[in-house]
Amino acid sequence: MVIDKYEPVIGMEIHAELRTASKMFCGCAVVDTTVAAPNTAICPVCTGLPGAMPTVNEHAVTQAMLVGLALNCEINAFTSFARKNYFYPDLPKGYQISQFDHPLATDGWIEVATEASDPLRVGVRRAHLEEDTAKSFHVPSERAGVGAYTLIDYNRSGVPLLEIVSEPDMHSAADAYAYATKIREILRYLEVNSGDMEKGVLRFEANVSVRLRGARTLSTRTEIKNLNSFRALTRAITYEITRQMDAMESGETIAQQTLGWDEARDATFVQRSKEQAQDYRYFPEPDLPPLTIDRGWVAEVRATVPELPAAKFARFLEVYGLPENDARILVAERALADYFEHAAEAYAKDPADLSKWMVGELAYLMNRDGLTIEQVPVTPEALAKLVALVSDGTLNQNSAKEVLETMVETGKPPGTIVQERGLVQISDEDRLSQVVDEVLLENPEQVKSYLAGKTSLLQWFMGQVMRKTRGRAQPQMVLALLRERLTARQK
Ligand code: ADP
Ligand code: MG
Ligand code: ZN
Repeated sequence: MVIDKYEPVIGMEIHAELRTASKMFCGCAVVDTTVAAPNTAICPVCTGLPGAMPTVNEHAVTQAMLVGLALNCEINAFTSFARKNYFYPDLPKGYQISQFDHPLATDGWIEVATEASDPLRVGVRRAHLEEDTAKSFHVPSERAGVGAYTLIDYNRSGVPLLEIVSEPDMHSAADAYAYATKIREILRYLEVNSGDMEKGVLRFEANVSVRLRGARTLSTRTEIKNLNSFRALTRAITYEITRQMDAMESGETIAQQTLGWDEARDATFVQRSKEQAQDYRYFPEPDLPPLTIDRGWVAEVRATVPELPAAKFARFLEVYGLPENDARILVAERALADYFEHAAEAYAKDPADLSKWMVGELAYLMNRDGLTIEQVPVTPEALAKLVALVSDGTLNQNSAKEVLETMVETGKPPGTIVQERGLVQISDEDRLSQVVDEVLLENPEQVKSYLAGKTSLLQWFMGQVMRKTRGRAQPQMVLALLRERLTARQK
């Protein structure tokens, strides 16, 4: 089979805007470019006026170091900036200040979970600082009247950008997806990037090649630019792998090309080939001295690296005894994990009761109403209270779901809702016996069928009891009583 004959090889470049207050080389504010009025956060430096001088944003360097350390990189003592020259209207200086031969961080790795039993270790070749470009808005000629034109918003120009370059250690679209997800998760944990793909603060590029399985050398690759969603990332890589395998099967050679991804056509297209490759004429940035990173500074930053998802996952299994699946979901977001830990503090019984409600009903309601854990008006303490009402037998599962739904909708505490609705579970044996007897008396036909062997009617009787008690009966007790009464009639 063709699939077995070839091995895809993938390396990724991820661009992440850093969440600093001001830009990389000037004092302009970093604003949300999808909200702010165009060209309101600009100055001579970030619009490339002649003679304007850049200065390095210390906070951006700290954040980049934080990422480098979280990705197990070496933070280099000597690092410097370089000019990457090319012309484009969104690049007012005619060059981008980036890092070339002396990047801030090198030689890291992370482990990502894939379908394989062992985690995949992906090397991080380098992480370097640079500046974002401005944003172009192309207005097509129909709307422009006279002819097409382009508007440029320089608010994004000069926003600190971290480029994270992986080794070619991935071998499927699923690997690349897992890696990109992990990087996003880490950036969010470090609070250096919101991970908001729709806002363009995180962008992917994938380098793809295909070689004969078992081959030691790398084959010619293509580079797919501007993948702005996880969906685009996965589909573009899948498409490109198939395209290259098909080409190799029919004896064609793969050309080194830069590709774009056409979302509408669901296909890659050629932007430029190697012959037209750009020569960026990198040279040291003359307006910025090299940056020497003091070891003491590295140690200071290292001390602020928070507990990362992998470590938190292990701790959640060990300390709280959570099922792996619950732990995995909770640690994916720091806010979710923190919420769980606060709830666990307020809950005296098995913390797995809480995680079950969090990844189940609460997640369902948040998803239904489009709420994040920060927005949902249910405090961790209130959730713990609700789950305690279930485990002490005050509420049955269905009533508890109803209460939680109301909590999400109104923010009221569970106790109040239970009072208002009269939802306290009926677990008084005498009362339930009475209802069970009533149901059996009122339905002689069903009782007959049951006794003749149609035991599936047990659930139906259960439903009748629930109806009479408005869903408040303690289910296990009802089942036991039904069985007892019906068995008695059998004799
Ligand atoms: P450039 O800077 O020109 O984009 P690099 O050699 O720095 O090129 O590589 C960029 C990315 O491409 C890295 O993530 C690397 O892992 C990946 N890469 C390099 N060669 C291959 C290949 N043959 N197949 C797949 N990915 C590759
Ligand atoms: Mg590249
Ligand atoms: Zn500026």
